[in-house]
Amino acid sequence: MRGALGGPRVLLRRLREVMAEPVSAQERLDKIVVLIAANMVAEVCSVYVLRVDGTLELYATEGLKREAVHMTVMRTDEGLVGLVASQANPINLSDAQSHPAFSYRPETGEEIYHSFMGVPILRAGNTLGVLVVQNRAHRTYSEEEVEALQTTSMVLAEMIASGELSALALPGAEPAVHPHRMVTGVALAEGIALGHVVLHEPRVAITNFIADDIPKELKRLDDAINKLRADVDSMLDRGEVSDGAESREVLEAYRMFAHDRGWLDRMREAVSSGLTAEAGVERVQSDTRARMLRATDPYLRERLHDLDDLANRLMRQLMGVDHAPRKDQLPDNAVLIARAMGPAALLDYDRKRLRGLVLEEGGPTSHVAIVARALGIAAVGQIENATSIVEAGDSIIVDGASGEIYVRPPQDIENAYAERVRLRARRQEQYQALRGKPCVTKDGKDISLMINAGFVVDLPHIEETGASGIGLFRTELQFMIAPAMPRIGEQLALYRAVLDAAGKKPVTFRTLDIGGDKVLPYMRSFEEENPALGWRAIRLGLDRPGLMRSQIRALLRASSGRALRIMFPMVAMVHEFDQAKAMVENELTHLRRHGHGLPERVEVGVMVEVPSLLFQLDELLPRVDFLSVGSNDLAQFLYAIDRGNTRVADRFDTISAPMLRALRDIADKGREYKKSVTLCGEMASKPVGALALVALGYRSLSLTPSAMGPVKAMLLDLDAAKAEAMLRPLIDKPSGSVSIRTQIEEFAAAEGLQL
Ligand code: PEP
Ligand code: MG
Repeated sequence: MRGALGGPRVLLRRLREVMAEPVSAQERLDKIVVLIAANMVAEVCSVYVLRVDGTLELYATEGLKREAVHMTVMRTDEGLVGLVASQANPINLSDAQSHPAFSYRPETGEEIYHSFMGVPILRAGNTLGVLVVQNRAHRTYSEEEVEALQTTSMVLAEMIASGELSALALPGAEPAVHPHRMVTGVALAEGIALGHVVLHEPRVAITNFIADDIPKELKRLDDAINKLRADVDSMLDRGEVSDGAESREVLEAYRMFAHDRGWLDRMREAVSSGLTAEAGVERVQSDTRARMLRATDPYLRERLHDLDDLANRLMRQLMGVDHAPRKDQLPDNAVLIARAMGPAALLDYDRKRLRGLVLEEGGPTSHVAIVARALGIAAVGQIENATSIVEAGDSIIVDGASGEIYVRPPQDIENAYAERVRLRARRQEQYQALRGKPCVTKDGKDISLMINAGFVVDLPHIEETGASGIGLFRTELQFMIAPAMPRIGEQLALYRAVLDAAGKKPVTFRTLDIGGDKVLPYMRSFEEENPALGWRAIRLGLDRPGLMRSQIRALLRASSGRALRIMFPMVAMVHEFDQAKAMVENELTHLRRHGHGLPERVEVGVMVEVPSLLFQLDELLPRVDFLSVGSNDLAQFLYAIDRGNTRVADRFDTISAPMLRALRDIADKGREYKKSVTLCGEMASKPVGALALVALGYRSLSLTPSAMGPVKAMLLDLDAAKAEAMLRPLIDKPSGSVSIRTQIEEFAAAEGLQL
């Protein structure tokens, strides 16, 4: 290597000795810059540390004026050093002074140095400072020298991250090792969590950076890469998809990266320069993370994420131990952070200790969000780079109402949130007081408020909320979280438990709504271009009647001597309902013939969630016993907007004319045919949605249990006739300038209603 004395291996070895010396932090830094300067044959070597106030402070230098140490402070938008920090990228210039970003600091005496090489000091993708070497002559530093300086900077990153330098800082100007961060995403499940970060897929902490035996470390790296390739290949061969997080596309990307020479060469180079295999992976991964944090192109960011995931796997391979958190040994007040997570994975955690969930992906109607709400934990989704900006054990606040998270919050914010938690507890007590009250509006309209459920953990909510029944029991959730297809006996046991818990209150069971985004890990899935529009729910049920038949049988047997309500999801044509109903009748005949006890009464209904049903209401209503509107899917198909696609999920408001007209027509037709119509989508779980629905004539709503208090409190104060008089004309003639949602909110404010 040109210029460098002994190369990075010798330097790393010398640095290790300095790190072990019992000297003060300043002395250690001073020795380090002397060593680096000598090794790189540079006249200057300086360390700048990023401070909590966002500026960079000169902490040590060899070659610049000593008086400037701890005196020279610059912003990250200032000078070449600032540019290295803000872009988290090396800068290598033979004539620094002609660069437009060059800014001259007289106190440092740097005007005589022409060449400049600066690299960011990175840890887990976060910039902690900048390491610079300078020479008087116009010198071009080689690629190898840039690499070597980056490798060296890892030692400084560890030193800064260890907190050793904090003693050298003035209050308020400490190194920004753990800066406070507030990030806004999308609210998934209401509630506030104050707790500590647990990474669903933890990063591995490396303790040993500098290699004793480089050939041995290279072999370890090669072995780990070979194992990783074999693992990825076999996952692809088996078509393994875990938790819905690893789609085939992701696995293909893994495979591509696992064979990418550039990636592998960079890691091998880092190890050849004197790092352990783990540190070599971390060194390259840190660059990837830094790029990921800055990438604006969503596709590129996804791929960088994939590469980061792969590096994590490689790291786990090298460390040889399973670093996954013991799901039954969570700390108290755990807040889980994941890129994506399936509902089953979330249910694996000890829910007594779980307070919150933060995801990089996940829309409000995704199933993990539904499970989070069932568990009563605060959840926020679409937090960009969530897994990169936190460290395990960090304190964190999750605001599931606003969609904000605070990582390492300052004391005043923590106090404010603790106060809000106390307030919420008090409000919950007030809602509890409404529990026994019938839900009647101010003008005397009875509203039936039921809950949505799907898990055994949901059942106590019937009592706790004072619900008048279960308006939607999502039977597929049992299937989604099971390791294998639940047998008829297991289904029977769950349905009995549900009916027992409900007592005399009605329960509406929805038959399996699988397919689409609801993947059963043990069932063969088919590649579909548009799974939401594909072979799912009743379509699958009618084509594969065995599964649906056994479910109907389990439902009928569980309801022996009681009333049963069954409804079918995703019906698009009336004849599908006819076929499904015929299946129920066949099963009844079968049970009767075999002398089984029969339900006292069976009612069959349909979910209205495919828009084609809007134009078949006159044929449908005479056939069914009831309808239930699934506003989540109805909105998805009405606006052609993928409910799980975070890029489009918030594009259209469901409280706008097209959706409200559809909802009004369904309610009006239901009344005309004297059939009950419930709404069981998420819309009913928001007071503003519930207000609109009651104004449109809905008298039966099925909600997420935690929404019961706020929705009921609002309805008790609502004049339904007045709301109807306000909303109906708006739907026919929406104002161009003020949205219907805003007008509902203004109405609520004028009426003193809490939305
Ligand atoms: C809906 O689509 O609104 C609904 C209630 O069903 P799910 O969310 O389970 O699809
Ligand atoms: Mg649906």
